[in-house]
Amino acid sequence: MKQVVIATKNKGKAKDFEAIFKPLDYEVVTMLDIASDMEIEETGSTFEENAIIKAETLSKALGKIVIADDSGLEVDALGGEPGVFSARYAGDHDDEANIQKVLEKLIGVPDEERTARFVCAIAISGPDIETKTFRGTCEGKILHEKRGTNGFGYDPIFYVPELGRTMAELTPEEKGAISHRGNAIRKLTKELPNILK
Ligand code: IMP
Repeated sequence: MKQVVIATKNKGKAKDFEAIFKPLDYEVVTMLDIASDMEIEETGSTFEENAIIKAETLSKALGKIVIADDSGLEVDALGGEPGVFSARYAGDHDDEANIQKVLEKLIGVPDEERTARFVCAIAISGPDIETKTFRGTCEGKILHEKRGTNGFGYDPIFYVPELGRTMAELTPEEKGAISHRGNAIRKLTKELPNILK
């Protein structure tokens, strides 16, 4: 069976991709299965650059088709921060510290200037595939305090105006239907038959 490798050690992320590759007869494996010792440094200054670095590095090492993503939060009043530093803004993958840092930096910023977006860039690369990227976004506003307990990362402070709830108040299905990652995956899915032929 043909294989596609997802450049992550996070099983949750791999599940989203399994749903789109299974119908195309591809087996989905992750770095946990075939490259668990490998660490890839994210040295890019954009989400796309980081996704490409991960997809191309792994694809060259394994000789297989690889999908990688990079994502984060851009707050307009902070000049786009935390951006590519989203996971390590205050402490490495410390969601609570990262949220508090954003809230503190936004003290005194009025509601109408608290616009923000989640961004996700997905890259696909392979031995016979020219690297391509797909970007999904989700627009919202940063609240003054946390609301909701679902999701992860900055979800509790990210308010989605058209739903009247934070990302952390949505079910996984509701989030997937409007999220940056969902939107990027939908774009990739649409192009996939052309890329893999
Ligand atoms: P990565 O793409 O796994 O490196 O994630 C980057 C970081 O961006 C995460 O650790 C979160 O802090 C943030 N982030 C990305 N996507 C989301 C999301 O859907 N909700 C909340 N935070 C997110």
